[in-house]
Amino acid sequence: MKARHFTYVSHPARVIFGSGTVGQLPDEVDRLNAQRALILSTAAQQGDAEALADRLGPRVAGIFPGAVMHTPVEVSVLATERARELGADVLVALGGGSTTGLAKAIALRTDLPQIILPTTYAGSEMTPILGETSDGQKRTQSSPKVLPEVVIYDVDLTLGLPVGLSGTSGINAIAHAVEALYARDRNPVIEALAIEAIGALARALPRIVAAPRDPAARSEALYGAWLCGVCLGSVGMALHHKLCHTLGGSFDLPHAETHTVVLPHALAYNAPAIPDAMAALVRVLGPDPAAALFALGRKVGAPAGLAALGMPTDGVDRAVDLALSNPYWNPQPLERAGLRDLIARACDGGPPR
Ligand code: NAD
Repeated sequence: MKARHFTYVSHPARVIFGSGTVGQLPDEVDRLNAQRALILSTAAQQGDAEALADRLGPRVAGIFPGAVMHTPVEVSVLATERARELGADVLVALGGGSTTGLAKAIALRTDLPQIILPTTYAGSEMTPILGETSDGQKRTQSSPKVLPEVVIYDVDLTLGLPVGLSGTSGINAIAHAVEALYARDRNPVIEALAIEAIGALARALPRIVAAPRDPAARSEALYGAWLCGVCLGSVGMALHHKLCHTLGGSFDLPHAETHTVVLPHALAYNAPAIPDAMAALVRVLGPDPAAALFALGRKVGAPAGLAALGMPTDGVDRAVDLALSNPYWNPQPLERAGLRDLIARACDGGPPR
């Protein structure tokens, strides 16, 4: 074994995890010396946001149930105006990555503290990263201003997450941990978290398909998702995340499903260059990690190919051009023939090579 040499950066966050932890929200608002919470949600989760408002009682300034996918700048600006009009002094976001994204976007503009109650496995709540969309382009930035101060993981809030989204959101989370294992700036702390997280999610997701409201399986999945979020927030991502970003943006593909389809293929592409990461993955996923991730996608009922998500089959060459147009670091050098094969397989829905 080589002598260790690494840099480890951690992000401050107060994390509360368990069942019924939403009951701690009023105390957490008080801890931040806040009195006027603006509650954020999507339209679909407005009922849950209203239930949260009932819990907070006089500490609520208002509800903004307008979070949408991809955090459009217009929505961020509107919500920021609302926060200012209401004199909000804390943001409380209940939802998945889209709602967390809106809280971060308001925090970027106002410096308000954030309390996030995640209801999917996306992991955004653990990162200082914000992706916002304007003029059809999603731009990502990283700033300590957008890192949430408090995250309340309440397993009960995830019991009703539809099975399909549970599976794809869980594999989206696994993707953060997989890429953390071969990140250029990886370190032993993050590697340990990544392996723990992948094992937890790979065990939990099939159990959730069999029994969607099983509290133990839900707890294991949310725990894994938290750790995956830490991985995403701590080290750089590579081919898989860049490709999903490009494919999702160019062909308007859904976020978690795209990650689920691409991950086995991206891992197979990188496998020859990452023997240590593959050996670690074998311990939690079995002898062929890429095939195991492909099989996990089928077990959770996710579409196998990007074509089924709306990618045109004649879009493969455009996708390859786009993937090569903006070079970035990846353990396996990016080359046209291999990338074309990867994207064509991901589009068709065949197994990884
Ligand atoms: P999402 O937040 O868009 O949620 C999808 C849908 O599911 C929404 O309609 C939502 O209301 C609903 N939903 C969420 N939780 C539910 C529950 N428990 N029960 C019933 N319905 C529920 O989806 P997502 O996959 O969580 O987030 C995707 C977005 O997050 C993308 O825009 C992605 O770029 C972003 N993201 C950002 C980061 C980051 O670090 N910045 C990390 C991961 C994801």
